[in-house]
Amino acid sequence: MTGKFVGAHVSAEGGVQNAPLNAAAIGATAFALFVKNQKTWSAPPLADAQVEAFQANCQAHGFDPSVILPHDSYLINLGNPDREGLLRSRAAFLDEMRRCERLGLRLLNFHPGSHKGEMAEEPCMDLIAESVNLALEATQGVTAVIENTAGQGGYLGRTFEQLAYMIDKIQDKSRVGVCLDTCHLFGAGYDLRTAETYEAAMKDFGEIVGLAYLKGMHLNDSKGTLGSRLDRHHSLGEGELGLDVFRCIMRDPRAEGIPLILETIEPDRWPREIAMLRSFEGTGEEG
Ligand SMILES: [Zn+2]
Ligand SMILES: [Zn+2]
Repeated sequence: MTGKFVGAHVSAEGGVQNAPLNAAAIGATAFALFVKNQKTWSAPPLADAQVEAFQANCQAHGFDPSVILPHDSYLINLGNPDREGLLRSRAAFLDEMRRCERLGLRLLNFHPGSHKGEMAEEPCMDLIAESVNLALEATQGVTAVIENTAGQGGYLGRTFEQLAYMIDKIQDKSRVGVCLDTCHLFGAGYDLRTAETYEAAMKDFGEIVGLAYLKGMHLNDSKGTLGSRLDRHHSLGEGELGLDVFRCIMRDPRAEGIPLILETIEPDRWPREIAMLRSFEGTGEEG
């Protein structure tokens, strides 16, 4: 698919079938959602009627699975140094992959995991890759989309080198991807505030990771400063990043055909933020 697909991480309260309706209501052409309650380890299986309603609502509002970017539970740590915690995370991740499979979705966005200060970085990334391999072996058609992190709390995936390291250890390269979060990039030390610095970061990403792996982006301003390692999102234009990076993204052919998702802090602003992003497309004039 060509063109830009913009949306937000919308609520799935009352059931996943409501997410596409919530996305359509804010003028989105892409969306993210949790496929189960993100604060609990287990959830009842999806009912057939829910799956059918989800797919019908997606179709009715023109959401192709390629622009729907489910996000896994924040409880999951696929690099957990504690064996019991690791097994629990792997089971929960597999359950989420299966939910996506069942819904006909093709992507599952996840935070790689944290060593919690109890393990070195490389063995922890080996664990994460092994966790992904296990989930991919047991499922079909769903790509595991690694999100870059700000590096807060021992979270791996804060550099392009770390993303490349994990991808290298994942066997099925056709089902692994990356989601770039602008707030996390900035927190991790990638300056995106000007067209030049944005271009430099994207060039590095292409060389170190590979553009073919880019399956989505999270568009967030940042409360934290450059290199602060803080994962604290802000509304577009309200934080340390400013608006130029979003102008760049909306005019970047590399961002075409993938979900561009707001995880900004004020859902009331989403319709305006989406409209503003749309206004950045094309002409080069600000909107
Ligand atoms: Zn994000
Ligand atoms: Zn974040």
